[in-house]
Amino acid sequence: MLKSAGSWRSRHGRASGEKTIEFSCRCGAVRGRVAGPGNANRVICYCDDCQAFAHHLGRTDLLDPQGGSDIVQLAPASFSLRQGHEHVAGVRLTPKGLYRWYASCCHTPLGNTVGPAIPFVGVPTYAFQTGDARLT
Ligand SMILES: [Zn+2]
Ligand SMILES: [Zn+2]
Repeated sequence: MLKSAGSWRSRHGRASGEKTIEFSCRCGAVRGRVAGPGNANRVICYCDDCQAFAHHLGRTDLLDPQGGSDIVQLAPASFSLRQGHEHVAGVRLTPKGLYRWYASCCHTPLGNTVGPAIPFVGVPTYAFQTGDARLT
């Protein structure tokens, strides 16, 4: 169950669609960047799987009061990890569930992928709320 939260633009993306924006986990050990996200699709997801993931990580503080996860959908090819690969862990909560990735250093969700057939990665928006890449 997805609810559109409108389009999302990074401050950099608005300036030029070619720029990259940085993201990181809460403690900063895992860092990466997204190339030219431009007008990405921002959604609030209320599915059980997303909520189970937050519970799994002990990060229910990241859910909104209705249990929604704030996610930006990005093309996987635009997504690159610069440091902290050793902290990135993957988990699949149910046999048909999404592949989910998180930073094991501080239990910060980093994204989820449905599978090779679905060409986007859902990245929690708060991963970008550092430095000068704040959301509008
Ligand atoms: Zn971390
Ligand atoms: Zn979901």
